[in-house]
Amino acid sequence: KRIITTEALEEDIKIEKSLRPQSLEEYIGQKKAKDNLKVYIEAAKQRNEALDHVLFYGPPGLGKTTLAGIIAIEMNVNIKVTSGPAIAKPGEMAAILNNLQEGDLLFVDEIHRLNRQVEEVLYPAMEDYAIDIMIGKGSSARSIRLDLPQFTLVGATTRAGLLTAPLRDRFGVIHRLEFYELDELETIIIRSAEVLGVEIDSDGALEIARRSRGTPRLANRLLKRVRDFAQVKYDGVISEKVARLALDLLDVDKMGLDYIDRTILLTMIEKFNGGPIGLDSLAAAIGEDAGTIEDVYEPFLIKNGFIHRTPRGRVVTEGTYRHFGLTFKES
Ligand code: ATP
Repeated sequence: KRIITTEALEEDIKIEKSLRPQSLEEYIGQKKAKDNLKVYIEAAKQRNEALDHVLFYGPPGLGKTTLAGIIAIEMNVNIKVTSGPAIAKPGEMAAILNNLQEGDLLFVDEIHRLNRQVEEVLYPAMEDYAIDIMIGKGSSARSIRLDLPQFTLVGATTRAGLLTAPLRDRFGVIHRLEFYELDELETIIIRSAEVLGVEIDSDGALEIARRSRGTPRLANRLLKRVRDFAQVKYDGVISEKVARLALDLLDVDKMGLDYIDRTILLTMIEKFNGGPIGLDSLAAAIGEDAGTIEDVYEPFLIKNGFIHRTPRGRVVTEGTYRHFGLTFKES
């Protein structure tokens, strides 16, 4: 696994729990989502009602699970956590819903992966706080309606486009989580260092922030690796120099690119004169699967302006040449 992957790794699970902010106040960035949620939470509390159903979408590691936890804390309700692939049958979803207490929050991660029959149980549950259960078989079968307590469904997905319209329409609040700015990541890193009991200065935090690809999960993971390095090789304090040396050793460069990113970009420059180049030719040249390049490696490179997609293929940008200290040649 690449150290810069934004999916949760085994090593993240233990520390992520302790690093999760516990209130909207502590939750850094995502101002729009936070401001809106503050109002909705306050209003629901005043009316003594469950909060409207909320959908968060955006790339992994930006804080969807964290926000769901904070909503439960701020609403002063219990949170039940499950995920799309974990619920195989409609009966399992019905049982989860039926066990909720008044006001509870049900968090469904990867909600786009619920199968259709399971999803259909959610429709009346979200709309009318009820589930329809079939009793009997064949001609004597009938459906009875079971009332549920008022609850809030918080769904999270990395692929909003895969959500069906009937499900999406039942969320009253929909927020896209954005990549974080450098100063926000720096604040997150300083806060995490405090929780972990590590000494860090602001230049050290900024150096880690620069290489964190806009993602708090990655910022926390890199901080942990730099901490180990600082402890073993230095006096334990994370300065800009210590962070730089540690991250260079981890092979994560100044823009957060790792070995594979650089191989892709340099192959495009050296073997294909910067492009345009088709996905399959690129895949063959670096010995990687085309689908993996498209889904895993390329999005970050495109989003950060290293690569452009044109009708004739992928093209490396002038900024990429500059990043590698090379002279740009218009092709
Ligand atoms: P995934 O969809 O992959 O599960 P996610 O979007 O749910 O990811 P979280 O698990 O909520 O991401 O966040 C990952 C880590 O990043 C957490 O440990 C959390 O501490 C930290 N984090 C996320 N957002 C923030 C934030 N706004 N402020 C401080 N820390 C944050």
